Amino acid sequence: MKFIGILGGTFDPVHHGHLRPALDVLQAVGLEQVRFLPNKTPPHREQPWLDVDMRRQLIELAITGVPEFVLDERELRRAGPSYMVDTLSDLNKEFPDYSLCLIMGMDAFSGFTHWHRWQAILGLCHLIITTRPGAELPDFAAHQAELTARMTRDVESLAQSQHGQILLQSVTLLDISATQIRESLNSGKSIRYLVPDNVREKLENLCNSIS
Ligand code: ATP
Repeated sequence: MKFIGILGGTFDPVHHGHLRPALDVLQAVGLEQVRFLPNKTPPHREQPWLDVDMRRQLIELAITGVPEFVLDERELRRAGPSYMVDTLSDLNKEFPDYSLCLIMGMDAFSGFTHWHRWQAILGLCHLIITTRPGAELPDFAAHQAELTARMTRDVESLAQSQHGQILLQSVTLLDISATQIRESLNSGKSIRYLVPDNVREKLENLCNSIS
């Protein structure tokens, strides 16, 4: 079976905590590619700090030279808010020969049962849940048994079905967040080594031009 990974997020901005875990998953699972999928109007969050075009440009810079990493702009192009369930339906049509793997950090997973039509999502892709400093496997209360039954730590089990497995995957633990980067930039602190150098340069230029 061939697999495509999808890493959704606000990427406000993209940082090494997105990039290295994505590479870890690519290698551990043998994905053909990871598609970085920035969202435009996250339904449950306030508006991003960076505008759509800047978030997109920074991802492009960050993945330069890594052919397995692809920028997927479909949610940016769509009018109005995007739901992951619709995006995954689109992707399944575009890549009928692949099994889709939606990658998310453990922190994001804790909100999963509040996502629009989350049970339908499990009918469209596998989930790959990555470790993240400070985040633990959540308790899903009423949905615990249903989700636990799908969980595995064995990469091989993804090949047993087209969708619906939840792989718990250890990745490089990097205690980096976009929030921390925005705070550093706002207070004039360096973001060196938290983001790729070309991303840092672009962000520093942007901050200098508005200060
Ligand atoms: P913010 O600080 O603005 O909330 P963030 O750093 O969490 O942002 P997002 O764009 O919201 O970044 O995250 C996109 C995806 O990447 C989510 O699934 C999130 O769990 C994951 N992710 C982000 N940072 C890390 C990290 N340091 N380690 C592992 N996963 C991460």
